[in-house]
Amino acid sequence: MEYLLYNGILVTGQKVAEGAIHIEGDRIRSVIYGENAKALLSENPDIKGIDLEGKHVFAGGIDAHVHFREPGMTHKADIESESKAAVLGGVTSFIDMPNTKPPTISEKSLHEKLDAARNRSFANFGFHIGATDDNFGEISAAVSHCPADFGGIKIFMGSSTGNMKVENEATLDRLFRIRDKEILVHCEDERTIMRNLEAAESVYGENIPFRAHPEIRSREACILSSGKALELAVKYGTRLHLLHVSTRDEIEMLRKAKADDGMITGETSVNYLWFCNRDYERLGGRIKCNPSVKTANDREALRKAFLDGLIDTAGSDHAPHTEEEKSGPYMKVPSGMPSIQHTLPVLVTLFGNTQEGLKRIASAFSEKAADIFGIEDRGRLEAGYHADIVVVDIDAGFIVGKKNIAYKCGWSPYAGEKLNGRIEHVFVNGRHSVCNGRLQADATAAGRQLVFSR
Ligand SMILES: [Zn+2]
Repeated sequence: MEYLLYNGILVTGQKVAEGAIHIEGDRIRSVIYGENAKALLSENPDIKGIDLEGKHVFAGGIDAHVHFREPGMTHKADIESESKAAVLGGVTSFIDMPNTKPPTISEKSLHEKLDAARNRSFANFGFHIGATDDNFGEISAAVSHCPADFGGIKIFMGSSTGNMKVENEATLDRLFRIRDKEILVHCEDERTIMRNLEAAESVYGENIPFRAHPEIRSREACILSSGKALELAVKYGTRLHLLHVSTRDEIEMLRKAKADDGMITGETSVNYLWFCNRDYERLGGRIKCNPSVKTANDREALRKAFLDGLIDTAGSDHAPHTEEEKSGPYMKVPSGMPSIQHTLPVLVTLFGNTQEGLKRIASAFSEKAADIFGIEDRGRLEAGYHADIVVVDIDAGFIVGKKNIAYKCGWSPYAGEKLNGRIEHVFVNGRHSVCNGRLQADATAAGRQLVFSR
């Protein structure tokens, strides 16, 4: 199929300008700036024209931080259900984290996951490999045998869902010496958390309130652990992606550690940009996640760092659990919340009102992730790239609710919120997967395996 998306406003990390996109097969054939693209339609009757009526066009999102729960926890979510929600939210590629059951900690488990995604994913798919205290041999083997088949190496410096953490100092040293792949770190100091938990239990007994979550998974735990990761990365020249930065202090640490070579980069999740500790009263266990949602002051610093470009990417950290699982007492409620469908609307709501903000969205939503992980031919509105495209009505508001939530778990922490940025059209590899906000019947399994050149 050939399409001409005309009369749009194209948004990239560099500019916001009127233009059109000519799609041929699975690729972008040309990007035409200015208003004169429509002539192409009268010359070529085979091209299907879509008048975008001034709506904004971004490269499809690349979310390098998702937990689709497959294999092993498919009662919460699976590749099919969550990739569908991703595409409905304008995210056309995802890289899934390794803390599944079994965990993705070897070439074998990586390839089993890739096989599971083939012909079932609505979005392009990739996976990270996880580090443990004793799989360094497996990681080295994967780095030398199949580097194009996985995004990076995920290290939990502190525990989270799946308890897949690295505690051994010598192992950490060896991992940070890997130069050929991206190292992604979840930073929270375990000992600090354990100490805080004991203190909370002595105050509250078994009835720990959810508002105590940021006291238990405290800013100090994040700062201590991120400090260590940044120190190791600077020491060894590691390609480090600091995940879900949640405090003002870590932003300052990131600013100091970052150099012009782009070796150290930072991510925050939309959840930290949107929620703050005042929301625990209202949402309780629903926004319990690791690291914890911190103060309004931290949130303000994160928003500023996003606009400054100090924060490189905004992942969703999409981490679904069932509503039932999320509604128990503090100690029983698992951490994580679903969010991939609303990443772009949240960003548009927060930053879409200025040209600078729009450019930053384009950069953080797709371009930077493609750069950091070396994803071939994706993440840009440029000729020759795969036609992964999202068209957004940035002024159209909608209320998040049961009727429009596509996750298998059926709920969202954003329920009831009014967001701007309705997703109108989504193309995945040139296939018109979402039209006027609705998933098309032939959208099934349009996703392809991501190829990582780094
Ligand atoms: Zn995560």
